[in-house]
Amino acid sequence: MKILVLGGAGYIGSHTVSELVDAGEDVVIADNLETGHIEAVNPKAKFYQGDIRDKKFVDSIFDNEKIDAVIHFAANSLVGESMTNPLKYYDNNLYGTKVLLESMVEHGVDKIVFSSTAATYGEPESIPILENDKTEPTNPYGETKLSMEKMMKWTGVAHGLRYVALRYFNACGAHVSGEIGEAHSPETHLIPLILQVPNGQREAISIFGDDYDTKDGTCVRDYIHVTDLAQAHILAVKYLADGGKSDVFNLGNGVGFTVKEVIETARKVTGHPIPAVISPRRGGDPAKLIASSEKAKNILGWKPEHADLEEIIATAWKWHKNHPNGYAK
Ligand code: UDP
Repeated sequence: MKILVLGGAGYIGSHTVSELVDAGEDVVIADNLETGHIEAVNPKAKFYQGDIRDKKFVDSIFDNEKIDAVIHFAANSLVGESMTNPLKYYDNNLYGTKVLLESMVEHGVDKIVFSSTAATYGEPESIPILENDKTEPTNPYGETKLSMEKMMKWTGVAHGLRYVALRYFNACGAHVSGEIGEAHSPETHLIPLILQVPNGQREAISIFGDDYDTKDGTCVRDYIHVTDLAQAHILAVKYLADGGKSDVFNLGNGVGFTVKEVIETARKVTGHPIPAVISPRRGGDPAKLIASSEKAKNILGWKPEHADLEEIIATAWKWHKNHPNGYAK
């Protein structure tokens, strides 16, 4: 199959391309390199640099390549930034997806796997979270991702396109080779920020609130290895290629760890004392987010292979230790 990966130079995109290439698929990447990295572009894939809001650019890819399915990662994904600059999210995430779907319909490409998020749920009504729980996002990032899901649904009703939306919980870790990994600027995610301490780039890690209603007062999240997420995209493409109907799946391990537990595990993995300081809560953080991924397991046949938190942090550490400045030299 020839698969177009939009956002294939980003964190989850580059790991998915790596798994696709290893599985022998023919991969085409498109990325505007705004948050993606040229160094993360897999040399075995064909690369087009451009923006999905540029209809001529998107059309030219479908004109030049006989694409069977699309995997769509090309979006902005920072909750905090979406609160201060919501229209950026409406423009890139929603308008970009509108242009993409228009071009897919015009070129007869009818399968798309899409990176969605646990942020589509907002404050959960119960734990673990199921796909048919209520979706009331508490920020524009989650809101635009939910709207992207709905845009695909209604485009499907009108034009026969089928989609799979994968709602990730906390993506983390890095490729076992240590050659590709997480590199955001600015970094806002817990595990890379913790690892800046043993890397000598930060004195201490801040714990955002220790008065939540959880076992040690710090927030609980479901941490899922990026390679396991990548595998789910491959299974989702196969599912659609085999005639599967449009659907939405959670991707998590179904196990929650507190912020303090994550820091403690990082101390064990790195052998560094990693000082932590209690800081005020970060706005909009739900106390607990844990996925039920039974649906992805039952329907897609997905099975996370790197569920152990120590192993997850060890892969992240291998990457960050050798690339303290990400892809920058
Ligand atoms: N967090 C923290 N200190 C940090 C960064 C994050 O205590 O420096 C907490 C954050 O409040 C949340 C958890 O770690 O409870 C995971 O945050 P992250 O930004 O990695 O992912 P999110 O859950 O927001 O998608």
